[in-house]
Amino acid sequence: MSDTQQIWLDGNIVNKDEAKLSVFDHGLLYGDGIFEGIRFYSGRVFRLEEHIERLILSAKAIHLELPWSLEEICQATVDTIKANGLTDGYIRLVITRGEGGLGLNPYLCPKPSMFIIAAAIQLYPEENYLNGLELITCATRRPTPASLSPQVKSLNYLNNVMAKIECIQAGVMEGIMLNEQGYVAECTGDNIFVIKNGKLFTPPVSDGSLDGITRQVIFELCEKAQLELREKSMTRYDLYTADEIFLTGTAAEVIPVVKYDQREIGDGKPGPISKKLITDFRELANSEGTPCT
Ligand code: PMP
Repeated sequence: MSDTQQIWLDGNIVNKDEAKLSVFDHGLLYGDGIFEGIRFYSGRVFRLEEHIERLILSAKAIHLELPWSLEEICQATVDTIKANGLTDGYIRLVITRGEGGLGLNPYLCPKPSMFIIAAAIQLYPEENYLNGLELITCATRRPTPASLSPQVKSLNYLNNVMAKIECIQAGVMEGIMLNEQGYVAECTGDNIFVIKNGKLFTPPVSDGSLDGITRQVIFELCEKAQLELREKSMTRYDLYTADEIFLTGTAAEVIPVVKYDQREIGDGKPGPISKKLITDFRELANSEGTPCT
């Protein structure tokens, strides 16, 4: 990262070296906070309002009252991108419960903090978009929605981090997380889609996945392309015997999977429907959005 990177912090744009939070911030002490990841392409932020709406809903769910409106958060996001002079990249917005005591009590944190980071990123090398990814099944399970809904994009990502460690130790970049019943939920930071006999399937979010904004874009693209897509609970068998698999996420975009638990998916190469949706997604992402230059 550049030394001159500019961060939005509680209403001010400051140099990254001056962007500091208290060690008593409950975001750090307890993971008590929420975040969003957003992409911008060709000087326009993709699905900005949808992301900020999801952030506001996460805040509501954890009883965190925000002093900023949707419009103010959108403006702060655009201001951060402008301050960094970027046209393409990734934005991370984080809202913490704020500074408080050493106990859990969030009511002793008088005001939340928000910071926004803009950066140029590519999550996976271009080669993986062309040739696909390999996945494993992670032993770490996605916790039941009855404990913490996966719809809350909270700072509590330790479960996903543990699964990511398993992937890295196995020498692959991503892994499938099952729910406690053994059904496929999602990957450590992406949703999953399976293609069989020309039809697309994705797990219902009630099986333990985030209702990803890229996931929603795939629903739109399939409708436009008259591809049949429906939600279905799936086991590993459905993935082993799939014709194609791809993952979706803001950072990952749309990326094909060619190997899973040592089984080749289809013929071991990205399939035609995945390739079409990768192209359609890129076209859409580069053709709409909130101006940020
Ligand atoms: N699942 C998890 C656990 C994630 O962290 C993400 C990334 N936000 C996704 C799925 C994909 O969601 P989106 O398309 O909204 O980025």
